[in-house]
Amino acid sequence: MGAVRESGETGAAHDLDPDKDAAEQEAAAALAGSEEMLRGLTDALKEGILVLDRNGNVVFWNQGAEKMLGFTEEEVLGRNAVELMAPEDYRDEYHGRFIEFKESRASTGTEDIMEFEAVAKDGRVFPIEIITSMASIKGETDVIVVIRDVTERKETEQALQESKARYRIVEENFTDVVWVSDLDLNIKYANPSAYHQMGYEAEELVSKSLGELMTPESFNLAFARKEEELAIATETAVDPPIPVELEVEQVRKDGTTFWADVRVGFLRRPDGTPYGILGVSRDISGRRHAEEALRTSEERYQLLAENLSDVIWVTDLSLKWTYISPSVVNQTGYSVEEALERNMADTVTPESLKAALSLLEGGMRDELEGRNPPDRIWVVEVEAYRKSGGTIWLEERVKFLRDGDGEPTGILGVARDVTMRKCAEERIKRNLIAEKTVSRISTRLISPQDLEAAINDSLADLGRLMDVGRVYLFEASEDLRYISNTHEWVAEGVTSQISKLQNLAVGAFDEWAEKLLRGEIIAQEDLTVVAKPAGDIVGWKEAKALIYIPMFGRMRLFGFMGLNDVRAPHAWPEEDIRVLRIVSEMLTKAVEQSRTEKALRESENRVRSIAEATGDGILMTTPAGRVLFANTAVERIFGYSYGELECMSVDKLLPGGLEDIVGELMPRLGREEDSTEGKVIEMEGLRRSENTFPAEVSVSLFLLQGQPNVLATVRDITGRKLLAEMEKEAAAAAAAAEVSQQHADELKDIIIITAHELRHPATVFKGYSEILLKYWNEMDNKRIRESLESIGEASNRLTSLVENLLEASLIEKKSIELEYSKVDPVALIEMAVSEARPKAPDGRIRICTSGKYESIEVDSEKIRGVIGILIDNAMKYSPEESLVHIWCEQTGEETLFHVLDRGIGIPEEEREKIFRRFYQVEDVNHHSLPGMGLGLYIARSLVESHGGWIEVFPGEEGGSLFSFGIPKKGRTHSSKAQVNPRYGILSEINFLTP
Ligand code: ADP
Repeated sequence: MGAVRESGETGAAHDLDPDKDAAEQEAAAALAGSEEMLRGLTDALKEGILVLDRNGNVVFWNQGAEKMLGFTEEEVLGRNAVELMAPEDYRDEYHGRFIEFKESRASTGTEDIMEFEAVAKDGRVFPIEIITSMASIKGETDVIVVIRDVTERKETEQALQESKARYRIVEENFTDVVWVSDLDLNIKYANPSAYHQMGYEAEELVSKSLGELMTPESFNLAFARKEEELAIATETAVDPPIPVELEVEQVRKDGTTFWADVRVGFLRRPDGTPYGILGVSRDISGRRHAEEALRTSEERYQLLAENLSDVIWVTDLSLKWTYISPSVVNQTGYSVEEALERNMADTVTPESLKAALSLLEGGMRDELEGRNPPDRIWVVEVEAYRKSGGTIWLEERVKFLRDGDGEPTGILGVARDVTMRKCAEERIKRNLIAEKTVSRISTRLISPQDLEAAINDSLADLGRLMDVGRVYLFEASEDLRYISNTHEWVAEGVTSQISKLQNLAVGAFDEWAEKLLRGEIIAQEDLTVVAKPAGDIVGWKEAKALIYIPMFGRMRLFGFMGLNDVRAPHAWPEEDIRVLRIVSEMLTKAVEQSRTEKALRESENRVRSIAEATGDGILMTTPAGRVLFANTAVERIFGYSYGELECMSVDKLLPGGLEDIVGELMPRLGREEDSTEGKVIEMEGLRRSENTFPAEVSVSLFLLQGQPNVLATVRDITGRKLLAEMEKEAAAAAAAAEVSQQHADELKDIIIITAHELRHPATVFKGYSEILLKYWNEMDNKRIRESLESIGEASNRLTSLVENLLEASLIEKKSIELEYSKVDPVALIEMAVSEARPKAPDGRIRICTSGKYESIEVDSEKIRGVIGILIDNAMKYSPEESLVHIWCEQTGEETLFHVLDRGIGIPEEEREKIFRRFYQVEDVNHHSLPGMGLGLYIARSLVESHGGWIEVFPGEEGGSLFSFGIPKKGRTHSSKAQVNPRYGILSEINFLTP
């Protein structure tokens, strides 16, 4: 251009020259030269350059103009530029403007820049910018026009305006759509930005499938990718180190589409299994445009880059920055110059650098191996340092810049501040966790098995969610003067304080207590700078931040829930406080409920434990018999569940009913006592199975809150009854067994004894008969007589033996028949003694009775026999020279007979048994003597058949005293106690004895 003007100036100088010819030639030469130069120069430029004469006809047309408008110089020379280039509608206007320009600029010689639209040879209309200036060439005043095609710039400006508008929205609202879907890609949640991005309200999106929100190609891509990642995620239970990211074409509500960049990650259950997807979608049309622009035009790239809030940077292949867009100031605080100076390694945290470099390395390697598609983009999130300190999160989208052959020439990066998105993601994730925690806590607290454990677990959940060191509940005393720490959760490594925090006086933190009482939350974000209340309470010392949420019970401040961060100051954002409030309310209810339940349980337990200990069923009923309470023993005894028992009529359990007893007891209640003594009755119980059982029921009444209640203790005595019966049976069986055993034993004895006893007379018969047969002739009469007497004696004995056996068998058959007659007792004694005398040495048997005796009514034969048995025994079991005394006495009621010997006596333990059949004392002294053990048995039977008794007593000087009493006829026999006076008589007898 300078050359053009210079030539113009040169021309102007010639105009002033009077010597025209010479000057003309010179000028022509100069023109030729300058025109050539001009052409060379202008052809190197992109702009179109035209020179027009004063009428506006083309005199010069460079290559740039040819390229731009499509006409060659030959085609246009001499043609009017306005006619040539102006769109028809503008032709008149442009003519006017040309004339106006010519006139106004004629004297000024200044440049002017105007915008027009031009029509190319092919009819294409495009915006141009023209710079016009006046120049005098060859004495003519020409117009030099520089034309610039500004199509691209216009488009860029347009785009810029759009993008500005869009980024205003970015600044005002966070435009990324954050959504959550299930594994089948049905949307479950979307944030409000969905409206801006998609045209859908967030609510409308819920339950829509991603398939409806993407073009089919994109959805197929996304679906396949999801399947792939899900397989990996299910296996590994951890998220990949580089976030999964894909570009998809999304469909707006109005059907238009846009390109979005979608970053996804799985939502996992505590065990790691994925159950949903968290995604962030970003409209990247703007960025796509920018990138497109970058590839095609440096100018546009700069324009765009400079106007985007994203930082665009370029490095060469050695990672040296060659360009960084000005927005870097906003993003990091560094100016472009400063940023260009910085070493890449210093811009991001070491972890981020590592991630970025490994990504780049991978990219380079793939590049070398020819595996990169030409427009592959890598995405990495890095944490970058800000000049003022602190960091921001940048999402870097990185790609190779390539030359026309596709060879990489550098690296292009677009860095976007995603701190906000990270925050939003974190918050959404956290809110989801919070929601889940709250719902877990609420289900846990609804009807817990173990409420204490449920509360403690809930505090633990809350502690983990809020990421604090301690979570605790304080309960206030009734009068609000003391508080005690009732529940506590501490994080690992934090020491428990609960035991130290009991019965603290509230005065120590009056100010805070008042706030709590007003229902205010106390949230201290940084206790290192805020003064704690006076009177430091244990547990606050360690806290760097704390929050107290007041808990209101039904009537009053119940206590508060507290959280301590023991590591660092801790902000308490609104949504956290909301969660804390909800949980604290749930806990308040649960604790109150637990208290009521505990009190109830305790009182119930007291009753129950007593009840269960006895195993008795305890029923509490109304006086009308409605069951109010039943312990488990009742359930067990009657077979009903507690639920069935409640409100049941007691008559169903005890068909006999309790009305009568209740009626009987009722008047006693309340007069002196608020409860009555139990009244025990046996009645029938009816089980659910309709079986009955014997029950022992103890009924008492008591007053409860002024109302009479019936307390019935029911004991199933089936067992006891059974046992008693069994005992009886067992005893009977044992007795029977004993009897039969006795019989068996006796039978054996009978045989042995009878054999033994029979052998004796048999031996005598045999012995004497042999002697008599053999020695009859040699024997004198005396010897023969003695022998025959011995035989007679033996036969007597045999007879008495047989008589005894017969007698005994009669007794056994209970067929003793008594023939009563009146006799004198002494006469009876004398008769018996006279019968015995032949066997005894003279004077051995002494009858020592004195005075008069009433005659008695007995079977004299039998009583004489009894006395005879006793005399026989007395002689048999005492030395031959010893005396046997016999006497009788009479009381008003009975007649007593006594036989006293001074023999071997009877051991105490045998004294009862000797009266049994076939019983013989088994000892050395007794055994050798003959006898069948029937004598005393017969004696007792005969005495008892008279209604009397017989007994043996030890004699005072050894030996035995056999006594028997016969009552007066028609009287029952006397008791043994009345026998005692006999000892008086005994001493008399002793006195009488020599
Ligand atoms: P037996 O005299 O025929 O053996 P008893 O029935 O008359 O049968 O007596 C039973 C047992 O009582 C005798 O075997 C003897 O051991 C004991 N007994 C009876 N009377 C006396 C007595 N007076 N002194 C010592 N033992 C006696």
